Amino acid sequence: MSNTGGAVRFGDGAIMYFEYQGSSDTAEYHLYPTVDELHANWRHHVWTPNCKYAGNGACAEEPIEMLALYGGGTHWKGSACRKCRQLIEGIVPADCDEQDGLPDWNPFGKD
Ligand SMILES: [Zn+2]
Repeated sequence: MSNTGGAVRFGDGAIMYFEYQGSSDTAEYHLYPTVDELHANWRHHVWTPNCKYAGNGACAEEPIEMLALYGGGTHWKGSACRKCRQLIEGIVPADCDEQDGLPDWNPFGKD
């Protein structure tokens, strides 16, 4: 079993990062603004959604592109709440029309 890094891209080009659980092929919910923060929280395992603004109208679900560095790389589409730094859709890529390979916006190894 192995975990790898994952990344999301919002419609305005903003990038955030998540931890991808290789053994179960699922993304963890929490989004980190930098690779350094992702690695500082590695294996922290935030498994449950935690939209702290949920219910008060401040949450905003946005469509995102997602990738994971698992195997030869994979990518799919989902949605997230940028304010809460939480994934909403796209936790299970196999259910989200997952495509092989890494898209050209892959931010890993570029910083
Ligand atoms: Zn939220």
